[in-house]
Order: sequence, then C-alpha cells, then structure tokens
Amino acid sequence: MRIVDIIINKREKEELTSEEIIFFVEAYTRGDVPDYQASAWAMAVLLNGMTTRETTDLTLAMAASGDTLDLSGVVDLAVDKHSTGGVGDKTTLVVQPVVAACGLPVGKMSGRGLGFSGGTLDKMESIPGYRVDLTTEEFIDQLKTMGMVLTGQSGDLAPADGKLYALRDVSGTVPSLPLIASSIMSKKIAAGAQRIVLDVKCGGGAFMETLEEAQELAEIMVEIANLAGRKACALLSNMNQPLGCAVGNALEVKEAIDTLQGGGPEDFREHALEVAVHMLVLGDKANSEKEACEMAEEAIRDGTGWEKFRQLVIAQGGDVSYVDEPNKLPKANLIETVNAPRSGYLSGIHARVIGETAVVLGAGRAAKGDPVDHAVGIEVHRKVGDKVKEGEPLFTIHANDKKVLEAARETLLGAHTWSDEPVEPLPLFYGVVK
Ligand code: URA
Repeated sequence: MRIVDIIINKREKEELTSEEIIFFVEAYTRGDVPDYQASAWAMAVLLNGMTTRETTDLTLAMAASGDTLDLSGVVDLAVDKHSTGGVGDKTTLVVQPVVAACGLPVGKMSGRGLGFSGGTLDKMESIPGYRVDLTTEEFIDQLKTMGMVLTGQSGDLAPADGKLYALRDVSGTVPSLPLIASSIMSKKIAAGAQRIVLDVKCGGGAFMETLEEAQELAEIMVEIANLAGRKACALLSNMNQPLGCAVGNALEVKEAIDTLQGGGPEDFREHALEVAVHMLVLGDKANSEKEACEMAEEAIRDGTGWEKFRQLVIAQGGDVSYVDEPNKLPKANLIETVNAPRSGYLSGIHARVIGETAVVLGAGRAAKGDPVDHAVGIEVHRKVGDKVKEGEPLFTIHANDKKVLEAARETLLGAHTWSDEPVEPLPLFYGVVK
C-alpha cells in the first residue's frame, strides 16, 4: 500500500477501506508520512468527506495509535466534556471546578487553539508556572487525590490526533466533520472517558456553520461513543457571537475567575451551568436536571467551585497569586476602547471575524508551534439584541503592536451590524442529541 494512492483515492471521492485508514494512521504516527502528504490527505477528506464507517474507523485507529487509559480503578465513573471549538469559549475553566466541587471528579486533557477558536491550554498557560504536560502517572495521582486535572493531551494517548491537530491548525483543514469527530472522540476514548458531554457549536464562530451540520456532527459523535461502549450526549449551542465578552487567553481566564466568583457575563454563566448540569446528570451525581442545576449554582454561590480552581492551579504548579489578583495576569501594552459609531440595536457580532482578529493580534498561531501572546485579545461590551447609544463603549482591543491594533479596529467595527428595529437576543442552545 502506498500513502499517495490513499490520498488519490480520497481525492477521487472513493470510500477508503478500513485497511487503508489503519495503514495511513499507523504510518503517520510512526513518522513515516511527511506533513505535505498528511496535509494533502486531510484536505482531500475536508473536500470530499467520509462515510460514517470511515469516520468510525478513523476514530478507532487514532484512539489505538498510542496508549489507552483505564480509569475504572481511579474514579467511580470517568466523566469528561469536550467542545468542538468556538470564540470566547472558556467553558471548561468554570465547568470543571464547579462539577468537581459537586463531587464529580473530572480528569481532562485539553487542546491548544485551533484555527480561529481558542484553546484551553493556551488560556491556562497565561498563569505563570501552570503545567499542561503532566505525565500519565501524575494525571492519575492528581485525579485520585483532588478529583480534578486539566492538562494537555499526553503524547502517549492518541498521538495520531496530537500530530494531525497541530497540522490541521495551519493547513486550512480544521472545519471537516469527520476530522473533528475523529479528533475529539479518539482522544476521549483513549483517555478512558466513560460518559462524555459534547458541546457542539454551531454558527459563524464555529467550524459547523449550520444547525444541520452541527446536528450531523453531534449524531456521529454520540454514535461513535456508543459503538465504543461509552455514553455521550451532545448539546447544540449557538456560536453566532462570542461566548461571554472576553476573547484572548489571559482575558478569558479573568472572565472565568469572575464567573466562578459569582459574576461574569450572563450568557457565559448560563452556558457553563447548562454544560455542568448535563455532566452531573450523565455522571450519576444528580437525579434530574433541576437538582443538578441547584448543585452547580450552589457551588458558585458558596465559593467551592472557585476554591477548586485555585487548588487546581496550585496542584499543577501555577502561581496562585495570579488568579487571586487577576490584574497580575499578562497585560497588553496598548488597550483601546472603541465606541459605538451609531445608535441602534446590535443585530450581529461576527464571531469568526472576532476570533480571526484575536489570532492576528497574537492570541493564536500562524504556523505550527508558534508561541502565543497571552495578553492580547478583544472584549466585546455589547451582545446581539442590545440597544446601544452612539458613543457608548462597543469593544476594547488589547494589542502589543500599533499597526495591528489599527487594522483590528476597522475589522472589528465591520464585524458589528446594526438595525433600527428591535432585535431578539440570540438563543444559547438549540437542543440536545442523546
Ligand atoms: N476539538 C478537537 O479536539 N478537535 C477538533 O478537530 C476540533 C475541536
């Protein structure tokens, strides 16, 4: 079998055999497929798609490309969550400590930014010293002792995804249903998750722009979970404007801290609570969504969720003074608030443009392995449906380069659209796939 023939077969819209998929994944993991061939293959998949059978084969091959964790002796039930990626999506930073404070242990392996969407690891690395490279032994120990781990994907687990993820980020091959489904589910299966809550984002700031595509992605991921003997549910959530207000690594950490302390933007708080509710129910910690909601709200009200977050930072070597005093977190040199150019109702905030602009400011990567600037980003001050008066603050840019800031100002103004007539606020969720 030759890699080039597998690429050609996919280019010609053929259904790849299980043997071809396994051959490709194994060779790529070993380092026998150069990045130019892997990029060509990923682009052929993006353009021509995969059948459910191919996607399942790809997921299982990627899950089997390294070690697999068995957490059955570590926790009663291994519960995890995963988002398909969005703009301003700092949900894990709130949900995980809240759920852990409710007595549900969560060991989570997260990713870095991907395309225009931010990554949990990049956000957590805004906290000096915070380690995202725990070994498998450290992961298991910490999960046992404190019921909470938030680290990077161990290189030993689903290494095929680790490599492909970084390649897709910089080769224009992120928004592909089979590549996203297999990336997410291979990691979850390899990391030993028995119950998985998936947050499938849909809209302009998501990789799936239409509800139909998001629904299809949700269904296939739930199906793959079932085939692999796991249980999953997928929330279909709206990503037509940034989630919360902050977009950018340190800015998002600050917003998550506010939220854990009982503040934070309303849409983000509600979104995080909904994800927490589904984790608590799926993880058998609550008998109903109502009970789960009361538990999660209480963990915010009584400060136990916030305390869990502090403990997490300490356990993973982070300097906790930076979360106790978030003003110490990295700050950009240039901070400019841009006011509304007119009065009216906000009818749209193009989340993708906001995400892409944050990447250009330095919050994401242009090339594989690039460093990110933790300080830069954008804060949107108004949401779709808000009535805004000319001259009121609309957004704030945090930049470290004057020219980039100036270009960002124009782009971001163009990302806001207006109406003279009242506009309905956007819904947070469209439904759940079980
Ligand atoms: N999250 C992942 O882990 N992989 C993707 O491809 C998209 C979002």
